Amino acid sequence: MSIETLVQQANQASTPFNKASFDQVVMSTYGRFPIALEKGDGCLLWDTEGKQYLDFVAGIATCTLGHAHPALIEAVTQQIQKIHHISNLYYIPEQGELARWLVDNSCADRVFFCNSGAEANEAAIKLARKYAHTVLDIDKPIILTANASFHGRTLATITATGQPKYQTNFYPLVPGFDYVPYNDIDAVEAAIGELDEGDYGVAAILLEPLQGEGGVRPGDIKYFQKLRSICDETGILLIFDEVQVGMGRSGKLWGYEYLGVEPDIFTSAKGLGGGIPIGAMMAKKFCDIFEPGEHASTFGGNPFACAVALAVCHTLEKDNIIQNVHYRGQQLRSGLQAIAAKYGDRIAEVRGWGLINGMELQPDIELTAIDLVKAAMNEGLLLVPAGTKVVRFVPPLIVTEAQINRALEIIEQVIATI
Ligand SMILES: *Cc1c(COP(=O)(O)O)cnc(C)c1O
Repeated sequence: MSIETLVQQANQASTPFNKASFDQVVMSTYGRFPIALEKGDGCLLWDTEGKQYLDFVAGIATCTLGHAHPALIEAVTQQIQKIHHISNLYYIPEQGELARWLVDNSCADRVFFCNSGAEANEAAIKLARKYAHTVLDIDKPIILTANASFHGRTLATITATGQPKYQTNFYPLVPGFDYVPYNDIDAVEAAIGELDEGDYGVAAILLEPLQGEGGVRPGDIKYFQKLRSICDETGILLIFDEVQVGMGRSGKLWGYEYLGVEPDIFTSAKGLGGGIPIGAMMAKKFCDIFEPGEHASTFGGNPFACAVALAVCHTLEKDNIIQNVHYRGQQLRSGLQAIAAKYGDRIAEVRGWGLINGMELQPDIELTAIDLVKAAMNEGLLLVPAGTKVVRFVPPLIVTEAQINRALEIIEQVIATI
């Protein structure tokens, strides 16, 4: 059967969706919105009833190139016919090519591939611990992270995540983490002083350049520059979680470019494969200290995921997409700011970088982010909350001027009437 026929069949198939049957057999780990999506094209999505939506969620800041992008279709179909998985027992040419692109386009010298953001952070945590034991000579290493951060859902990464709501029912957590307020240099200095005692010592500081899930909070440039010099003086590793903000979403390829500092280790996932699962942990040469057998992933960096991620990287470059992120981001932010000025009784603040933006609702009103997200969904605009009071705007990076204007129209109408 030809690929054209397969694509035609996929577009024709409209399966009736049975929510009750779904809920019977799928664990209820997610609070799902009551629509089922079955088709996408660019920044548009369709549900099983045929209703169209403008997608400002992008699979949670993941579908960099939107849906059904020709470059993705080509990479997927070509690679699956050639070779898709062989394990890391053998050399994988596509993995080398992707690592080369990442090294050429970042401050990193070495890359480890896995399948998700949490796994990339796990790899960074393990690397930092080995570095503490073998280089810094710390017996009981501590990794400092920030309040309101988000680093994933595995045991180590919910421990790293400075939000008690993700930890409550899962004690005992992983030892070796402590928390500081974000963007507060005095707090970090105090914590380092207090924690360096006996066998204990701070081995690494793990932070998002912009806190995504925790409320779209950009990092403060002076704070990060001071942190960099503290780390340079003490040997503490500076680790950035770029899982959400990296790969062009910020209007620069990496969020750290906004802060004028380079991390020693950083992680990527969400946008890297444009929606095909892949994660990466990247490091400078001096912390490339893993030896064969010390860390691994069966799927990590397989030919399929790497070929698709390479197509994402090449398309970002070829189509000047990061420039689009910059201009569309400005357009979106100034539009949201105008709405915020008009409805100051409801909206407290608009903030963000590039195409990761948050609109914070006034704290003293009943209206929550989820109310607004539901109302916008009814009007055909998909949005996602970042905490209880912040609505997050993370469209595909290929979003057009007209689509931003349409989203602004809908959001203004929703805010005016809610
Ligand atoms: C989403 C996210 C993660 C977790 O990624 P998964 O792929 O869901 O494991 C980690 N860190 C940040 C900053 C994220 O936004």
